Amino acid sequence: MIEVTPNYYHKFKCMADKCTHNCCIGWEIDIDEDTMQFYNSLDTQLGKRIRESIEGDVPHFILSDGDRCPFLKENGLCEIICECGEDALCDICTLHPRFRNFYSSFAETGLGLCCEEAARIILSEENKFSIEVPDDIDLSDEETELFGIRQRIFGILQDRDESIKNRFSRLAREYGLEFEYSIDKLCKLYLSLERLDESWTDELDRLQSFNFEGRIFDDEEFQIPFEQMAVYFVFRHLGDAVWDGDYATRVNFVLMSCYLIGALAEYYLSIGGVSFEKLTDLARMYSSEVEYSQENIDVLMGAG
Ligand code: SF4
Repeated sequence: MIEVTPNYYHKFKCMADKCTHNCCIGWEIDIDEDTMQFYNSLDTQLGKRIRESIEGDVPHFILSDGDRCPFLKENGLCEIICECGEDALCDICTLHPRFRNFYSSFAETGLGLCCEEAARIILSEENKFSIEVPDDIDLSDEETELFGIRQRIFGILQDRDESIKNRFSRLAREYGLEFEYSIDKLCKLYLSLERLDESWTDELDRLQSFNFEGRIFDDEEFQIPFEQMAVYFVFRHLGDAVWDGDYATRVNFVLMSCYLIGALAEYYLSIGGVSFEKLTDLARMYSSEVEYSQENIDVLMGAG
């Protein structure tokens, strides 16, 4: 399978023990069949402990106190990698924080915003996002349409002669939408979703009565981060429109996501200031809470 990646993709390197929101904490880790077979054949003390730490019809690691992966060492390193190398990881751990969108004859692989290092790379990238759809492969009619529409959306979002607010408004108009949401309703909607981390609840609770004016989208410092954020959401989610042709729903999801993250950032601006690092952390949290739960995605896609 041909695999293509965005321009910033190869900048990523896991921060491991330097990471403050380690993905080995708080997530259920399912083990694929091939890796399970490998673990079953591992004739060492570690192999025995790995097998004792797995349960369920869909095999997964039994998390330790604090929802930690049982093989995450106190120093923040992975015991399985330290002893057996990266090839011994299950597919989920190998892939994370990457995601793949499969098309008929190739796949696009991106970095997910849920990882703090990936989020930093994505949102700080000065160059416009680009990815080359291979031109020597056959695309279905629906895929040809998708990539044409996506390029047009990227063009609107990457028009740096316009402020990011104008770009968002223009994209909204193209799809019969408005770049304007009720903060109270948005907070209620997101609070109704499945939750991973209670600090996300606190963020949304605080925001409910906040008077969001959209000033954050005028801030020079955040023009590129919001552009990259919106382009990322398009890159990650627009592809599903190939199945039903419903582009407006995905565009609404992109705009709503940026609006909510913008409102959270402006809240911090109003109480003393918001840094690029804070914006990145809000985007990371949003992605963890929303993009890794199909149930949550389905609710939000239906919220247009
Ligand atoms: S969140 Fe990202 S940087 Fe942190 S441990 Fe996971 S993959 Fe590595």
